[in-house]
Amino acid sequence: VRDLTMHFDIHAGILRRKVGAVKAVDGLSFDIMQGETLGLVGESGCGKSTTGRAILRLYDPTAGSVRIGGVDVASLGSAELRRARPQMQMIFQDPQASLNPRMTVGSIIAEPLREHSDMDRDARDVRVRELMDAVGLNRAFASRYPHEFSGGQRQRIGIARALALNPRFIVCDEPIAALDVSIQAQVVNLLEDLQRDLGLTYLFISHDLSMVRHLANRVAVMYLGKIVELAPRDALYSDPRHPYTEALLSAVPVADPVVEATRQQIILEGDVPSPANPPKGCNFCTRCPKVMPVCHEVSPAFVEHMPGRFVACHLMDEEQDASILRENKND
Ligand code: SF4
Ligand code: MG
Repeated sequence: VRDLTMHFDIHAGILRRKVGAVKAVDGLSFDIMQGETLGLVGESGCGKSTTGRAILRLYDPTAGSVRIGGVDVASLGSAELRRARPQMQMIFQDPQASLNPRMTVGSIIAEPLREHSDMDRDARDVRVRELMDAVGLNRAFASRYPHEFSGGQRQRIGIARALALNPRFIVCDEPIAALDVSIQAQVVNLLEDLQRDLGLTYLFISHDLSMVRHLANRVAVMYLGKIVELAPRDALYSDPRHPYTEALLSAVPVADPVVEATRQQIILEGDVPSPANPPKGCNFCTRCPKVMPVCHEVSPAFVEHMPGRFVACHLMDEEQDASILRENKND
């Protein structure tokens, strides 16, 4: 993903003139490795879902490129996009809203096959049964309707539909957020099993940092339309470098009671600014506990400061300057 940008124009007045733009996603660059789970975290409204949808071309991005296996998905015409669609799919947050209540489960799962493959009816039925087995649904239920299933089962239906065309890459947009806590682990385990068995690559969008810690190989943190930090999972959780990541993690309870007893939650002042009117300089400068004068003037670049660790914060430059000074002194 390079410079991915998704701005929504704001129109006003009788002439509906453009008066501004909501910068929902503002110039993201990052890689997702084949076979990995990249977690994408941040508070609601920070642009996570829009990022997922722009990558899959459910929205047409304002700018930027998204290369999947050498093809720039962001610039495909509609016919080419149709051909590329099978390899990239989405699992939605609310299984209830994404399943047509008037279609049987069998025909919901078969829908992508009808649209994108030349399978005949018998072949589709065989494939639907295979998919139901793969997600742990009783195949005898193919003729039932979505309302006859529990939330967890409905999400399994959504997963089966997403798998129908053998995708390589799946955006999971808060796939368990709407489910009972008791069901969440089952669906997460299913997603992990499917990834291992089918060699899937996931972009896993969530505001649940504990869940992402369990699932992701690497984690990207978003704030107000930008990625502020991206790092391997353990490095991010044990040694966050961006002040926003620090604040997010400080709010997560720790299992170890000794550590938990000394956990200091960092409370951020103020609200998230509107993405239609982000602050000058660093997007986080209105709330950052470590803000410096330069932060109000210059937007920090998203830079790989250590191998595999990307941070957008002026503190990192200071740290680098300081370590260069130390090295020079030692010489
Ligand atoms: Fe805080 Fe400045 Fe870093 Fe932004 S650049 S996160 S305001 S220290
Ligand atoms: Mg969302």
